Amino acid sequence: MSLAGKRAVVTGGGRGIGRAVCLALAAAGADVLVNYSGSANAAEAVAANCRALGVRAVTCRADVSDAAQANELIAAAIQQLGGVDILVNNAGITRDGLLLRMSDADFEAVLAVNLAGAFHCMRAACRPMMKQRFGRIINISSVVGLRGNAGQANYAASKAGLIGMSKSVAKELAGRGITVNCVAPGFIRTAMTDALAEPVREKLLGEIPAARLGEAEEVAAAVAFFADEAAGYLTGQVLCVDGGMAM
Ligand code: NDP
Repeated sequence: MSLAGKRAVVTGGGRGIGRAVCLALAAAGADVLVNYSGSANAAEAVAANCRALGVRAVTCRADVSDAAQANELIAAAIQQLGGVDILVNNAGITRDGLLLRMSDADFEAVLAVNLAGAFHCMRAACRPMMKQRFGRIINISSVVGLRGNAGQANYAASKAGLIGMSKSVAKELAGRGITVNCVAPGFIRTAMTDALAEPVREKLLGEIPAARLGEAEEVAAAVAFFADEAAGYLTGQVLCVDGGMAM
């Protein structure tokens, strides 16, 4: 696989799965824009690690839930890297709670980052991708978007929404050489899952045929696969990276 000469934007690239995605794309030869909203130092460190792999890498602060900032993010990639060939919508948050107790604010915040954030970035990136008749958009969904999860009505709605949105956009853009796919991770070892209570963790582990948590690098490998030029006939798909959890 080679992504040499390709330019990638990874939202939430400073930590967790996003960090692993930046490094995997850079290892395959892509230049990388590492987006962050709060973790400036972490994003700088990821960019430095990417540069050590021999590619160009820059950082850009943008809250993807804000359409204007998402537009600026894509504009920064065009200005600093010369274009955008690969967009990975990875930025995501959780605000868990049972339906009865879930506030409007918690529902809306999760939809704003996880779903509207991807929408804003795709809308901004699709014009330059259409012009160059090439693009790879990879949206990070979740097995929770396929199966649901008690206490995550907001998160599940955002991740299921990403799948429907990706399939719609895949149909719109397929004729222009742009593919749109989802990677749906299961239970991956990151800050997001470190925050889970021990009984929840034990229960989830019992549902994973592989009987272990996944690693961010295992998700990143699936993203890099979709990003490759050779994956040009694959679009509108959802690839679960979940140790067999969702099958
Ligand atoms: P982390 O909590 O470790 O990282 C979340 C990332 O999202 C951070 O880089 C953060 O950047 C970024 N982010 C949050 N809000 C915004 C925003 N408004 N604008 C831009 N960036 C933002 O999560 P993971 O690495 O675990 O998760 C990454 C993705 O994978 C998420 O979409 C998540 O839903 C999904 N996922 C994770 C699973 C898991 O088991 N870990 C399972 C299934 C899906 P900053 O720190 O700068 O705010």
